Amino acid sequence: MLLSVTKPQRLLINFRSSWNNNIPSLFKFTLRAPITTFNTFKIPRAFGLNLTRTMASNSTELPSSTIPIFTTVADYRAWRRAAFKAGKTVGFVPTMGALHEGHISLVRESLENNDLTVVSIFVNPAQFAPHEDLATYPRTLPKDLQLLEEQKITSKSCGETRTPSAVFVPTVSEMYPSGIVQNVAEQKGTFIEVQGYGHQMEGKSRPTFFRGVATVVTKLFNVIEPTQAYFGQKDIQQALLLKRMCRDLLLSHPEPSNLHIIPTARDPTDSLALSSRNAYLSTDGRKVATTLWQALKAAETAWTEGRTKRECINAATKVVEEKIAQASKDGLEVVMKLDYVEMNDAQTFEVLEEEKARRDTGLVILSGALYVDKTRLIDNILLGDIHQVLG
Ligand code: AMP
Repeated sequence: MLLSVTKPQRLLINFRSSWNNNIPSLFKFTLRAPITTFNTFKIPRAFGLNLTRTMASNSTELPSSTIPIFTTVADYRAWRRAAFKAGKTVGFVPTMGALHEGHISLVRESLENNDLTVVSIFVNPAQFAPHEDLATYPRTLPKDLQLLEEQKITSKSCGETRTPSAVFVPTVSEMYPSGIVQNVAEQKGTFIEVQGYGHQMEGKSRPTFFRGVATVVTKLFNVIEPTQAYFGQKDIQQALLLKRMCRDLLLSHPEPSNLHIIPTARDPTDSLALSSRNAYLSTDGRKVATTLWQALKAAETAWTEGRTKRECINAATKVVEEKIAQASKDGLEVVMKLDYVEMNDAQTFEVLEEEKARRDTGLVILSGALYVDKTRLIDNILLGDIHQVLG
């Protein structure tokens, strides 16, 4: 007998006949819960490993999937050890779920360039301030898994057909053994802060956001041990800050150069940056949501025409003002409010000085945030040699 399950017995294990992406078939199973308390189950021997696995308490029902789902660090690590032994490279795409084509573009990049691809789905409480939308953040796990199952590419470099290899869906207690509250002043335990880089741009509006992100990504890197990791330009400050963190913490999984930043995927109809939070938009809100992108494009045009930084930002705010006036004329039921449009140095994240901006042709992040009703949309354009950071 390959596997023994101790109580409760409601764990459903589907062995599959073939091994996905050359991972030993012992690890190819689908778990279906509910898993009510600690369950232990043994998998006798694979690649000389004798594994006893413990699955953390989880009251959430896991949907079935043809992709192996891991909910505990211990389970995932056993799988990862086998991948190490088999000499496989592992690409990693961390997400908070509610997957869309933007996430999938990262998954496809990973599939193209790695033997195995792992996606994590975890809504990280530590990156939400107490007043933010943790409780209402969209959670669509069955749909996410279905979308991942549909992904299949034939690698251009080696001709191998690849699909996502594993999904890591931990519980909050698995990721935060010391517990986690959203109020930073009350938090206990270990946190990561990338000093000097988390208070500008997005950090100005969300002062504890990057601390939460850096902490969870460090934990995820420690668990997943990716050869390469993939992040979106959509959250450019986050991606660049994490690259810096990998360098500062001397991480090997991934090496800083193996943290890749992939261009923002957009709605083909109006170029709205795809985002899980777009789901919050009302019909009228969706009609005007592309305002931020249009504002940034106006600033970009001004920049390429050689205008000053002030003129670029004025061009962007003018677009927003016109759109607000137009929405009101059209009788749309929507409230738009510009949070910020700014130009920052891509190295330091500091606001560009007016004069420096025109002389220095280093990489510039033109970014902004716009409230459409209560939904805060963000977007950015990189000005200068984008190859310094993308890819
Ligand atoms: P999230 O689930 O929002 O935390 O995003 C997970 C990853 O997907 C992050 O690296 C994001 O930057 C990336 N991402 C989100 N939206 C897009 C998009 N429209 N295009 C490319 N990457 C994206």
